[in-house]
Amino acid sequence: MIAEPYWLAYILPLCVLLWGHVQLRKRREVGARATLLENKQLGLVEPPSLHPVVDPAICVGSGACAKACPEQAIGIVDGKAVLINPSICIGHGACAAACPAEAITLVFGTERRGMDIPYVQPTFETNVPGIYIAGELGGMGLVRKAAEQGRQALQHIAKQRGEEGELDVLIVGAGPAGLTATLGAVEHKLKFVTIEQEDSLGGTVYHYPRNKIVMTQPVNLPLVGKAQLGEISKESLLAFWQEIVNKFSLPLNFSEPMQKVEPIGNGKGFVVRTPKREYRTRNLLLAIGRRGTPRKLGVTGEDHPKVVYRLIDPEQYRGMRVLVVGGGDSAIEAAIAIAEQPGATVTLSYRGEAFGRVKPKNREWLNDASAAGRLTVSLNSSVLSIAAETLLLNEAGHARELPNDAVIVCAGGILPTPMLKELGIRVETKFGTQ
Ligand SMILES: Cc1cc2nc3c(=O)[nH]c(=O)nc-3n(C[C@H](O)[C@H](O)[C@H](O)COP(=O)(O)OP(=O)(O)OC[C@H]3O[C@@H](n4cnc5c(N)ncnc54)[C@H](O)[C@@H]3O)c2cc1C
Ligand code: SF4
Repeated sequence: MIAEPYWLAYILPLCVLLWGHVQLRKRREVGARATLLENKQLGLVEPPSLHPVVDPAICVGSGACAKACPEQAIGIVDGKAVLINPSICIGHGACAAACPAEAITLVFGTERRGMDIPYVQPTFETNVPGIYIAGELGGMGLVRKAAEQGRQALQHIAKQRGEEGELDVLIVGAGPAGLTATLGAVEHKLKFVTIEQEDSLGGTVYHYPRNKIVMTQPVNLPLVGKAQLGEISKESLLAFWQEIVNKFSLPLNFSEPMQKVEPIGNGKGFVVRTPKREYRTRNLLLAIGRRGTPRKLGVTGEDHPKVVYRLIDPEQYRGMRVLVVGGGDSAIEAAIAIAEQPGATVTLSYRGEAFGRVKPKNREWLNDASAAGRLTVSLNSSVLSIAAETLLLNEAGHARELPNDAVIVCAGGILPTPMLKELGIRVETKFGTQ
């Protein structure tokens, strides 16, 4: 009897493993290529903020970046790493940190679409004395970094107190940067006010999809100490912050947008106007992120309380006649969610001729819902005026009165760059540079 070579016992399983690995990589590449193609066809090719650029000459195609990316924004195509879903990249840098060949650099903006980055000193003060910027507005996203910047900015601000009758600092925004700065203001016993344009805590985090896992790291918070944050659900993170707000009785003025800023004399502080009042302050901390202020319709009756700029709870619209305005994913998703509520009548009004760059799934849902009569789509239309129980819609040149109980406007946001420039803050546009 001929004895089988003993090494076959090792080689065979190894070959099976290797074959499995190659098949898995192939399958992942097919998926990554399909995602890349789909996003190209939809025109979703621009990352919103900081994002990775891969040097193909250095990339060894290890796939470590794709594994590390929690958003599945990067993948391997033709043996090299590629940003396959640019519009969902949030600039974690987890991909760059994981790359064994250091082939990934994080940059702002792209050749086609520049990104405006305000000038900020290491103290977080801009070139305008007394105006500070912390968080994503300064270019660096991420919850931990925004919080850390809010804390550090307050340490510097605390050195320049206001005079009698004025605040030491007005903090604008209650996202991670503004909240941490607020804790810092309490810790340093400053005279301060924090204003937030929305009626909720958490800034961008509040708007994440339900149950999203937030990838973050331990962060040092004033008064609280080291918060051991890691991977945490959006809801738990918001609950954590709410607990802190309650524990330290943080004064946060919700539904109060900053509307106008005027300098007092030469570098002696600012007057900040909101719809509710006017503040005199020595320093101003802008922790307003990059999402901007909701774009308004600018029509008569828009100040009616039934008009809102985002959908919070679809169930509150049960049995109501609702107009949703907008042509993007958020408008479509809001319209569909409300149309599913018992007794709700929904009209989706969009000024364009067709819904352009929306997710294929949303387009499909919209077509189905509209074909089934669950909602009415009104293209080439715009709101002319809003009254208590009706509104006037201009549909391709013809005015039509609709019975109406609620209006949800999802028309995007006005970015803060023009306001920064108006304040004299130097802003540099980056086209794919660090
Ligand atoms: C989909 C998505 C997923 C993400 N996932 C992660 C993640 O997993 N991990 C992570 O670390 N980061 C993540 N990020 C990034 C992170 O959310 C942001 O970097 C972070 O929230 C920035 O904090 P901020 O305080 O600078 O700004 P924001 O959170 O944007 O807060 C700014 C606040 O200022 C308010 N404001 C704006 N203008 C005015 C005004 N004129 N007057 C008064 N108030 C105003 C806004 O309403 C808002 O509440 C994600 C981002 C997105 C979009
Ligand atoms: S920066 Fe973050 S979201 Fe973007 S590709 Fe890298 S790991 Fe993914």
